[in-house]
Amino acid sequence: MSDILQSINPYTGEVLATFPKLNEEAIDNAIDQSAKAFKEWSVTGIDQRCEVTKALAKLLTENKRSLAEMITREMGKPISESLAEVDKCILLVNYFAEQAPTILQPKKLPSDFDQSYLRYDPIGTIVAVMPWNFPLWQVIRFAVPTMLAGNAVMLKHASNVLGCGEFIQQLFQAAGYPLGSFRHLLIDSSQVEQVIAHPQVQGVTLTGSGNAGKAVAQLAGKYLKKCVLELGGSDALTITETADLDTATDRAFRSRMMNSGQTCIAAKRFIVHASIEEQVIEKLKALNESWRIGDPMDEETQMSVMSRTDLVDTVEEQLDKLIEQGAELVFGGNRKDNHFEPTLLRNITTDMLPFHDEIFGPVGVIVTYETEAEMVELINGVPFGLGSSFWTQDEAQAERVIPQIQAGALAINEMVKSSPKMPFGGVKESGFGREMGAEGMLEFTNMKTVIIN
Ligand code: NAP
Repeated sequence: MSDILQSINPYTGEVLATFPKLNEEAIDNAIDQSAKAFKEWSVTGIDQRCEVTKALAKLLTENKRSLAEMITREMGKPISESLAEVDKCILLVNYFAEQAPTILQPKKLPSDFDQSYLRYDPIGTIVAVMPWNFPLWQVIRFAVPTMLAGNAVMLKHASNVLGCGEFIQQLFQAAGYPLGSFRHLLIDSSQVEQVIAHPQVQGVTLTGSGNAGKAVAQLAGKYLKKCVLELGGSDALTITETADLDTATDRAFRSRMMNSGQTCIAAKRFIVHASIEEQVIEKLKALNESWRIGDPMDEETQMSVMSRTDLVDTVEEQLDKLIEQGAELVFGGNRKDNHFEPTLLRNITTDMLPFHDEIFGPVGVIVTYETEAEMVELINGVPFGLGSSFWTQDEAQAERVIPQIQAGALAINEMVKSSPKMPFGGVKESGFGREMGAEGMLEFTNMKTVIIN
């Protein structure tokens, strides 16, 4: 493997920057520095930690435009989406800076002792292995609450968004976090083991594909480290015969196509009552015609390139396979360089790829059903369980279906969205553990039971 990591603009093909990889000794030095920083940060009072976090929110605000441009240059999403990503991070940082003292407050426990309570202590340095599809959001949503709880964080960012990783590290330092408490490691995936193995490192979280998740979970098992996995999905968006079709199809299209289809909680399978399939298709076609595709730096652009050539290759192969198996192309299907057109397929059956794998690109598929029981089977008939969106105006039907759906997040008459206020994560092969909400903030704490007599 090369000793150099490169960041390449997927729209222009320009090499944006090269980064020398850390060697073994440099990784050990970084962990030693993280250990020192942890000693200081873990005993820093919560009020001070919140102040530093608020300073980070201010810096994110001041640097919003340049951060958004860095995201767009490195991974090609439209600048309007990059700006929205920075805004969502600012919201999250402010939310946790406000809520941390309450969430981390020790809780009284009932017992036979004079006093008993639960406290949430930090545990050490946590490694975060992160993807490129939301290169700021994925990092911030994990690191900020985890560090407010007193931990240190080491980031192994995806190798195509290292400029974002460097920028984030600069902002943590400028905000006043102790030097080394947030460290971006310029390493490749083969070097992750050295970091996880180190005794200072007490946990690892990975957001990414199932294969990467399995590799990291094996290492977490080998070295007995706490592990959280936020993996992929093949989420259903279900449109029943009573749904508000205009809104449901609009959200289906946006959810599938935004970020060029490279979103974990995108609606990837449209489960549609057979009686309304034609109407749904007509509405999706109209949305496709109005979708603006172009230069990602243009404020008007709604969709641009995918983030790497190999990712476009994969989607192209998946599409060819589906068509070979009998899927019918409704629109799209063409690829030019790193662009892949918004694409819709119908005649999908449960033996086809969307029922056992993820399509991480702008390809929606329609699957039809006749009965409610069949519909529930289709929704759940995948190895994943990340999100699910369900459209109905029949409240009794919603009540019946809500407990049956196997997903970490269920949105009725809304697309699946994440929020700092709510825990986020999956079941089945979409992973385990949670980020955000109080539950996410407490994942990497020592829930210490204290009794006093
Ligand atoms: P990926 O290829 O799995 O990469 C994710 C991260 O894991 C990168 O930093 C990558 O490093 C690293 N990695 C890959 N193989 C590894 C290994 N064997 N050991 C250690 N680290 C390894 O995934 P991606 O293509 O970047 O992201 C897309 C996937 O992420 C999709 O499946 C998507 O659904 C999922 N995702 C899930 C969530 C969620 O919250 N559940 C959110 C966003 C994305 P390199 O870049 O150096 O290979």
